[in-house]
Amino acid sequence: MFSKILIANRGEIAVRIMRACREMEIPSVAVYSEADTHALHVRQANEAVLIGAAPARESYLNSTRIIEAALQTGCQAIHPGYGFLSENADFAADVQAAGLTFVGPSVEAIRAMGLKTEALRLMQAAGVPTVPGYQGGGDYGQAAEQIGYPVLVKAAAGGGGKGMRIVRATSELSEALAAAGREAQNAFGDGRVFLEKYIESARHIEFQVFGDQRGNIVHLFERECSIQRRHQKIIEETPSPFLDTDLRSRMGDAATEAARAVGYVNAGTVEFIVDKDFNFYFLEMNTRLQVEHPITEWVTGLDLVKLQIRVAAGEPLPFQQADVSQRGHAIECRVYAEDPANGFLPAIGTAERISEPSGPGVRVDSGLASGDEVSIHYDPMIAKLSVYGTDRVDAIARMRRALADYVISGLTTNLEFLAAVIDHPVFVRGEATTGFIEEYFGEWRSTLPPNPLSVYREGESNAIQNVGDPWARADGFRMGGGVTYTVGKGAKAITKRNIGQGENALAAAMPGQVTRVLIAEGDTVTRGQTLLLLEAMKMEIKISAPRDAVVRKLLCAQGQIVERGQTLVELA
Ligand code: ADP
Repeated sequence: MFSKILIANRGEIAVRIMRACREMEIPSVAVYSEADTHALHVRQANEAVLIGAAPARESYLNSTRIIEAALQTGCQAIHPGYGFLSENADFAADVQAAGLTFVGPSVEAIRAMGLKTEALRLMQAAGVPTVPGYQGGGDYGQAAEQIGYPVLVKAAAGGGGKGMRIVRATSELSEALAAAGREAQNAFGDGRVFLEKYIESARHIEFQVFGDQRGNIVHLFERECSIQRRHQKIIEETPSPFLDTDLRSRMGDAATEAARAVGYVNAGTVEFIVDKDFNFYFLEMNTRLQVEHPITEWVTGLDLVKLQIRVAAGEPLPFQQADVSQRGHAIECRVYAEDPANGFLPAIGTAERISEPSGPGVRVDSGLASGDEVSIHYDPMIAKLSVYGTDRVDAIARMRRALADYVISGLTTNLEFLAAVIDHPVFVRGEATTGFIEEYFGEWRSTLPPNPLSVYREGESNAIQNVGDPWARADGFRMGGGVTYTVGKGAKAITKRNIGQGENALAAAMPGQVTRVLIAEGDTVTRGQTLLLLEAMKMEIKISAPRDAVVRKLLCAQGQIVERGQTLVELA
């Protein structure tokens, strides 16, 4: 077994991996950026190494610096967590070249699954069903006609729901191809796109797979992740209410086949899309631990992180397929600093006070403690809340209780929104598809009072006089049957006013980096035209023209970091 492991990540997943290390009595080394000097993962590690400035590219994506830190501290292995460098084949290769173990699959497997188009070809060859599609090289229009509308334009190098466009008619195709290509180029440095049949009323159902270095491959059952916003998961559960024993078994076999096709070692996830007629199609394979791994841990009783470390150290899987079973029901909610009533725009700020739910069958994987900050530099996920129940009804009731017990003040969060989703009859009936949030929650608004704390920070002291100290008013903030009061509605109001779709000045709705400038001073622009792209907390925000106009002044440049409310463009 390893004598020391470096964790090349931050936030809740770094803390999660450290917990496994501690239980295995393996000292862990944290790495951190200048923005994370006081972060929870740094406080919890045995040792911590500063690796660079706040922007991820200078720290958590700086593979050379991370490998140096591992060598300096005498580590034998690096666990990449998820996100950042976890699916970067070059990083895995460099880790190995430095004489260290990469806790994950082989470089070849990461590479093979890294490009969706390549992965799809591999799967077709292995007999795993894929969505009818077209990989390019000829006439996209003709291909789309043949596939039949609606089609989905997807980025070959895609991830995180980026570079995806639904196209319902020929007239929309060329623009969607160009936009998706641009977004993909920005996000992944690779603008290649391909087409897939867009499956309506679909379910996202994925299988956890695991392989060891001796060629054993098993699956650990499914996770249903159909509750999504912007093609990104927010609530996951297992077992899926959509699968019967037969379909589960066929999909499990296909997942194992998919993993076998690339000689898969360690933890991976094979994602499928399932249509309303119960046909399933391979979407992609994620060659890492998944955010939603706790629900698999709940129902199988396994610790996936410990298993990852054991397998990476050369131990065989301690069980076979027939030994694994699903028991009970588990649900996970991703708690984000974001505003669901405002396009799920990420929010920043300091978590003044966090009080997490606990009790039977409740687990919180958190990377943030009271007083910690959610900054513009990283993903706005605060924590993962997962619950276990004897059956689905029990698990839903427990999640409702846990969400009601969760208190986060000082930040705008999605807690109230999650509670509303959990209570929705379509979700309760187990009938939600990937379009569920858009269909039923487009007009969702908070019913909670504004946030005096964040309003105060913005200098709007009148709101404070109106509302008073929230902690002195325990009753008023527990509306909607005990739903947790999420502070930050005041911040939303301010954001809305900072959005600046005013007459002449367009301002940044949130702090971030200008990733693209698509106009120049003097240009004539039309209503709806994209002028700038802004990126913050892994989200891309379009600044588009509110009306036909001329660009009078361009007040920012590509690559520039801008403040919330800063004027970026003046129109005339
Ligand atoms: P990413 O790697 O960016 O997360 P995925 O291929 O995993 O992209 O897809 C993300 C989500 O987009 C899926 O969970 C599903 O909701 C939707 N999606 C992807 N492909 C299709 C498709 N062919 N038809 C319908 N929905 C799709």
